[in-house]
Amino acid sequence: MKFADLHLHTHFSDGTFSPEELAAHGGRLGFAALALTDHDSVEGCARMAELCGAAGIEFISGTELTAEHNDTELHLLGYFVDTQSEKLLANLAGFQAVRQNRIREMVARLNELNVPLDAETVFALANCKSPGRPHVARALVKAGLCKSLDEAFERFLKKNRPAWVPKAKMSALEGIELIHQAGGLAVMAHPGLNRTDDVIPALVEAGLDGIECFHTKHSTATAGRYLEMAGKFHLLVTGGSDCHGFSKGKPLIGTVKLPYEHVERLKQAAAARHASLVARS
Ligand code: AMP
Ligand code: FE
Ligand code: FE
Ligand code: ZN
Repeated sequence: MKFADLHLHTHFSDGTFSPEELAAHGGRLGFAALALTDHDSVEGCARMAELCGAAGIEFISGTELTAEHNDTELHLLGYFVDTQSEKLLANLAGFQAVRQNRIREMVARLNELNVPLDAETVFALANCKSPGRPHVARALVKAGLCKSLDEAFERFLKKNRPAWVPKAKMSALEGIELIHQAGGLAVMAHPGLNRTDDVIPALVEAGLDGIECFHTKHSTATAGRYLEMAGKFHLLVTGGSDCHGFSKGKPLIGTVKLPYEHVERLKQAAAARHASLVARS
């Protein structure tokens, strides 16, 4: 059996692995295909493509965007996007600027709570253009201000906690359009985690291509529910570990294995999208 992991992060966003480390884990675990889906970034894709190519692993370029529909936050995975698309890159740069400003705001809130962290410390630790809350959490732990990442999220960073800052988000319809214009397929990430079932029909109407049925945080029953939904709405099926590096001593990559037949279907759909974009231009 051939398997894929289509949801992975590197240090180009809030993961801790380099592309080298991630590709090495993928090879060790025998994956036939991997996709990189850093938050608001495609920066690691070129290197991952090289490394996977050398290791005989098929590679799919991707990114993970944060969007909203009717006040529900959701994550959109964009697969097979053209990583050179000027429009995509300009939008990603905008989202990255929003992320950087949000780090400053979160640090300012922490300072108001007498937690002495400074933004430059977070940026130095993040060392990437697409910083997020995990970097603030790691900086808090490193400075001895929290004992664990869990504590940092629970006390300060989770939604509605005192240092949480809402992120300005594009609409899901704009996100789907952006992914499509870059030649990609738009897939709803971990619907069981974000509890986004109610908005799925509207997004299907707007051109959503697929749904992430298999995910670390989905139980077998949850995956089954989304497989059923994929059938009902004629959506592609994806899955991945959402590995961000080592978590409690072990990497998540390897814990979710998407049967390769779904990659075949994704590739066919991506080829059709490319053909229709070429026909229109
Ligand atoms: P952000 O994009 O800055 O809002 O951060 C979201 C990221 O934070 C997610 O992709 C996860 O990697 C991580 N995250 C969210 N909630 C938690 C939590 N409760 N504990 C640990 N990590 C979390
Ligand atoms: Fe993340
Ligand atoms: Fe996500
Ligand atoms: Zn993710």
